Amino acid sequence: MLKCLLCHRSSEPKLRLPWVLSWQPLERPVVCQACWQTFTPIMTSQACPSCGRAQTQRSLCHDCQRWPQQAFYNQALFTYNEAMQAYFEQYKFKGDYRLRAVFRAVLMARLASLQPAIVVPIPVTANTMVTRGFNQVTGWLSDGENSGWLKTKHQTKAVPQSQKKRQARLLTPQPFELTGAGPDLTAKTVVLVDDVYTTGRTIRHAADLILENGAKSVIGLTLAR
Ligand SMILES: [Zn+2]
Ligand SMILES: [Zn+2]
Repeated sequence: MLKCLLCHRSSEPKLRLPWVLSWQPLERPVVCQACWQTFTPIMTSQACPSCGRAQTQRSLCHDCQRWPQQAFYNQALFTYNEAMQAYFEQYKFKGDYRLRAVFRAVLMARLASLQPAIVVPIPVTANTMVTRGFNQVTGWLSDGENSGWLKTKHQTKAVPQSQKKRQARLLTPQPFELTGAGPDLTAKTVVLVDDVYTTGRTIRHAADLILENGAKSVIGLTLAR
């Protein structure tokens, strides 16, 4: 018997073909089929090759044409829709840590397919760590992926990204620093994991820093775009 983590209804999971093809991890599903189908997977073959946005074909999207060339690209698993917004509301802002299980298996599967030498979760600020109590990204990853050597700088109270105008967001100063306690990045492929790719500014700042420290390439992996 499955008790859905999202709608809390009990059901008997049936393994029908559309279900098997719907990305839902086969072993011990944690959400019901009805809830799972409210999320919209992005097909990499039809996504922007730079930011991972869902499109009708694989070509550079309007936003990405404005970014300078960089040894970086992003893949996103799902389109940020209403269901995803509701998920983040419960998981991040209401702090229901059990909900990390909803996307853990699909995220870990995609991560494995990218064969990274090093996996780095985007850190949250010390402030967020105190108020939320956890990093939403490391919640999805298995133990041991919590690097700690990529840190957010101490800042005076930052305005949340979502409240800034697009132009102001793109001009924000580097918010991250490396502690020096990390692994040798020289010629490595690094995967940066984050929750949502919005303007790309945050994850590209982190990618810049890692590339400046010798990495060969950086791939972003975000749950939503
Ligand atoms: Zn459900
Ligand atoms: Zn793009």
